[in-house]
This record gives sequence, structure tokens and C-alpha cells, in this order.
Amino acid sequence: MPLKIYNTLTRQKEVFRPLHGNRVYMFVCGPTLYDYSHLGHAKTYLNFDVIARYLRYKGYSLFYLMNITDVEDRIINRAKETNKDPVKLAKDLELPFHQDMKALGMNSVNLYARASEHIPEIIDQIKRLFEKDYAYETKTGVYYNLAKFQDFGKLSHQKLDEVKKHRIDPDPTKKNPQDFALWKKKTSGPLWNSPWGKGRPGWHIEDTAISELYLGEQYDIHGGGLDLLFPHHESEIVQMESLSEKKPMVTHWLHTGLLMVSGERMGKSMGNFVTIVDVLKDYDPEVLRYYFASTHYRSPIEYTPKSLEQAKESLETLYTALDNLGELKTTEGKRLDEDEKKLKNELAEMKKRFLAAMDDDFNTPLAISHLFNMATSINKFAAANKALTGKTRQEVVETFKELGGVLGILQKEQRAFEAESAKELIELLVELREQFRKRKDFEASDRIRSRLRELGIVLEDTPKGVQRKRQILG
Ligand SMILES: [Zn+2]
Repeated sequence: MPLKIYNTLTRQKEVFRPLHGNRVYMFVCGPTLYDYSHLGHAKTYLNFDVIARYLRYKGYSLFYLMNITDVEDRIINRAKETNKDPVKLAKDLELPFHQDMKALGMNSVNLYARASEHIPEIIDQIKRLFEKDYAYETKTGVYYNLAKFQDFGKLSHQKLDEVKKHRIDPDPTKKNPQDFALWKKKTSGPLWNSPWGKGRPGWHIEDTAISELYLGEQYDIHGGGLDLLFPHHESEIVQMESLSEKKPMVTHWLHTGLLMVSGERMGKSMGNFVTIVDVLKDYDPEVLRYYFASTHYRSPIEYTPKSLEQAKESLETLYTALDNLGELKTTEGKRLDEDEKKLKNELAEMKKRFLAAMDDDFNTPLAISHLFNMATSINKFAAANKALTGKTRQEVVETFKELGGVLGILQKEQRAFEAESAKELIELLVELREQFRKRKDFEASDRIRSRLRELGIVLEDTPKGVQRKRQILG
């Protein structure tokens, strides 16, 4: 089945056809280093991490580039407010960003590129825009003359005169109030020499200078949060398509829905954010990955602390099914009985549907629902106390790991793989606890239960007897 991706540029799902055969080039807007990363950033990065994982799973050779904005007005303003050096502020925040990504298992990026290390490429792009008469100079900087670009607004679907009201204009000598800065003339903060005097680049030109260098004039996927669509991505199109005279600059524009808190975007300026570091103190990274994958990447998510708790429970349900599977009796022979054949067919069907869901614009919530259907089948099989061959058991576990791997979940060791002796010791303890309980020695039985819990083994007393439940340690 061909992969279909929703393209913001055309507002429809399109069959994904890379420009260079099997090779795929993807660029995603990275962090602006003026504060720690929060859950809103985690959503964007993890959404694109799943997209990258799936493209590779399908056999594409993906080159994934992410820029690091370490020169930008927000960094300089924050440094001023906090009496810090802006270069040091950005530098100090880069390591925590990478630590957050590592902790989240976000390892799909091939190259991170800092804006500050691409100033020659930025200046070169501005020079070329001058040569083509798209750029002009004023007292405050160099600007792009938007009156010269016919296609303005094709990404955000608005006309030039409609956006006037959105922009605050610090320079009345500009040709059009909407014209954006390519180079800002400055006397303080981080400064570089340029043909137009000392200053620093505008935000949008940082990205196109970096993407042109590593990915070329045209490439396959450009992604980012929905909040970057305008003016940031729109301006990137203006710059790059003026330079190359090739359209479109990017064949597939992807935008992720935002993380909301009480109806407002989670953001640093809103003061309603939770840092990634803080969330990971209480939750396993797989819980966070499950949480974001359980909603479609284009949809917004309304964040509540309770929703993370629900994600944790759902993920535990999947693990528990796998653990149940691991504890089933194994049949000696190689012949499959009807029940086992049925389970195998269901497994094949689940995989097919999972992949079909992913092929439909990376529909992760639908894909996850197929994992749950399979978990239900396993649990039914286990509840009926049926036996299966070791081969089938292995196939189910491997398929869960393989498909879970696309989402970055279900990668933990299953109980089935515990050393046999450890397993027997646990069983012995469970049995001893039962005996203590029957003798009403609750102190001893509770002690065994709480020590087992510390080891991640949770015992639940149910009408059917003691059941073990999978717990993910935070
Ligand atoms: Zn960007």
C-alpha cells in the first residue's frame, strides 16, 4: 500500500513520492535556545520521530536534518531580562536539549545544524537575493520585498494585504509593511560583519541557508509545529523559491497540532508549561511516547496530568498481555491446533491493519487500536488456559516489538524472558505470601507484597486468586 501524507500546501492527502527515488530528505525546525524544552516541544519532536521511524521502517533511506536556532531575538531578549550573555545562554541550553531528546529516545535525527555556524551561507543567500532584486537595504537592515513574490501566502492560504494587521513594524521606511528582515543591523549582542554592516541574520533565512546547504534547493519534507506555519515557513518558501526559481521548495509540508492547556497553547510565554525533565521524573519515556502517539499528529492535545496517568495504564495493559503470553504453557509438538491457528491469523491481520493505518498519514491512534485488539485476543487465549507452540509465542512477541518500535514503545524486557530460576523464586514467594495470608499473618504477607512491588512485580488479589500485573517503574 502506498504511503499517503497530508500536505499543508495542497490541503490534501497525497501519495508520497520522494524526489530522489528511495532517498528522502526531511527538515524539521529545531529548538530556539532561550529556555528549557517543555512538553509542547516534546510533542512536535516525538511526532516527527515516529514519522522518521516509519519512513525507515518502510525501507526509505532517510536523511533527517534539524536546525538549532542559537541566534535569535528571543534569546537576546531573554538574556537581557536575566542579565546573561546571549551566546552563553544559548550554549548552556544546548546540552539540556540533547539530554531531553536522548531521554525521550529521540534518536532519528542525522544532523543538527547551528545557525551561528552557517553565517557565511546566510550572507551568501542574502547577496543572491540582492542580485535578483528581491532584497533591499534600509537604515535598520536588509528586507525581502514581498511585492515581488507572486506566490505569497500559498502555504498559510492568505493574501498579502490580509496579513498587514498582524505585523508590528519597527521600520517605516520599508517598501511594504509586511516585508521581513533578512539581516538586522545591530550594535550590541552577538554581531557578525556583512556587506551591510555589523548585525545578525533574520530568523527565516537561517533555516533556508541550512536546508539549501545540506538538502538542496528542493526536498521532500519540511515539518514543524503548526505555530511555525506563518510567518516562518511561509517566509522560507518566499526566500528559497526566489533563489532557486524552482517550485515547490518542499513537496510535502507537515505540521503538528499543538499541545494545549485549558484551551491555550502550552508555551514559555504563556507560563503554563511543564518541562520534559520534570515529566520524566514521574513517568517512563515510553509513557510519554504512548501519550503523543495516541492522538493523530495533526490534532491538538488538551494536556492534563490525568491524561498521562491514563496513558501509563493503557501501556501497562499492552505489557500485561505480553506477560500473560509469556506465561502460557508451551506444547511439545509442532502441530498447531485451531485456537493457535486463529491467534496466528489474528496476529497477521493486526500487523496488516497497523501498517495500513500508518500508511494513511501516520494514523498512530488507529494503529495502536489494532495492538489492543491483539492484546484482547491474547488475554482471552490466556484466560482459557490454552497452550501454544514456542514458535507462535516468539512470533507474537517479535511482532509487538517490531510494530511498537515504530512508535518507540514496547521495547522493555518482557516477563517471559526472566531467568527461569528468578521466575521460580518469584512463584515461591507468591505461594509463601498466600500461606501467610491464610494464616492471617498480614504483616508477613504485606511485607512480601511490598518488596515484590519494589521490584516491579505487582500482585493483585482478585476473586480468581492472586494475579500479577505489569507495572512500569517511573
Ligand atoms: Zn525553522
